[in-house]
Amino acid sequence: MNKTADINDIRKLFPALEQSVNSKKLVYLDNGATAQKPQQVTDLVNLMNSGINGNIHRAVHELSSKTTELYENSREEVMLFLNAAHREEIIFTSGTTAAINLVAASFGDKFLKRGDAVLISEAEHHSNIVPWQLICEKKGALLKVLPVDDCGHWRMDMLDALLDENVKIVSVSHVSNVLGLINPVEELISMAHSRGIPVMVDGAQSVVHLNIDVQKMDCDFFVFSGHKLYGPTGTGVLYGKRELLEEMPPWMGGGDMVETVTFEKTTYAPLPLKFEAGTPNFIGAAALARAVMFVNSLDKEFTQKQEHAVVNFMVEELSKIEGLKLYGTQGDRISLFSFTIDGVHPADLAMIMDKMGIALRSGQMCAEPLMRRYGVEAMLRASFAVYNTLEEAEYFITSLKRAIKMLS
Ligand code: PMP
Repeated sequence: MNKTADINDIRKLFPALEQSVNSKKLVYLDNGATAQKPQQVTDLVNLMNSGINGNIHRAVHELSSKTTELYENSREEVMLFLNAAHREEIIFTSGTTAAINLVAASFGDKFLKRGDAVLISEAEHHSNIVPWQLICEKKGALLKVLPVDDCGHWRMDMLDALLDENVKIVSVSHVSNVLGLINPVEELISMAHSRGIPVMVDGAQSVVHLNIDVQKMDCDFFVFSGHKLYGPTGTGVLYGKRELLEEMPPWMGGGDMVETVTFEKTTYAPLPLKFEAGTPNFIGAAALARAVMFVNSLDKEFTQKQEHAVVNFMVEELSKIEGLKLYGTQGDRISLFSFTIDGVHPADLAMIMDKMGIALRSGQMCAEPLMRRYGVEAMLRASFAVYNTLEEAEYFITSLKRAIKMLS
């Protein structure tokens, strides 16, 4: 099948991009928060909600067979997408946050004890901080932090000392939702593994922009959210190496995750169901496979070229704006840019730009410690997706200059 290599063809698949906002054609640059959905994703959700609906795994009737097949095929699709070795290594969750909480609670319950430590980085989303704090508090373990330098890069020179014998797991983002830099996860993983320490990679931002191969990366866990990958909200994935997942206790108890239940003792279902208690979002999971198929249908060379063009243009143009500070500089990055402007509040700018039809993110970006690291209370973020054009980037820069003038 021919892969799509034309941005107008891509845009046609996204009805949301047709709309006007504040009487202006929408320029949607808040993809780091959530992406718009292609028609094939919403069509499947509608189709299932309006008929192909029966609870999975539980019944012999036709509708249940159909949804079960869609759900399990989706697992297969995600397995291939991540290049996981086994289908039971793919656990469906409600998102990145749920997946991290699952690992923190389950892995932490089994492997953390008083005096142990968990290592994260200074550039984590709250979702990759708080779950670890919760389990560390419970277990009397310590949360250690790998700092970032002024450009936003991990202080790799400090890693050796930080990875001491107390560290039982490392959990870091592949790409920070603020800095947009592609972190050297493979180097970190290899250092951690040489000390027998497993690593979880938060792929919420990277999975949309980079090719992910969990076997090549050799991460022990990889997590992402469906809604940032052009899929439905309330969906997500935890990939985990089978041997590790098998050793970990269930997180939530309920239907579908059990083998036999008596009041005295319950035995658990094998992977992946051990970690999928209760009725999952099977419609969402099936539609997530459609989103993955959409991503697979794109010409990778074309999308990468397009992304490089946007990155080069944005970095160059942002650097020309007086008083603008971009966070995350020097090095490979995705098309996500957070910045501040001297004397102008990001929220005011975001509001004015909304009036110009441009959707941006402003605030603490769910990364308060990183805001503190750079001594700011808030930032403004523009994040691009495969359907954003270079013309939109140009319109963004012109509008930003106009907005700054209006506020200064
Ligand atoms: N980690 C990162 C790096 C993110 O960007 C996000 C979403 N902004 C999350 C975790 C949390 O994802 P979700 O809210 O979909 O669970």
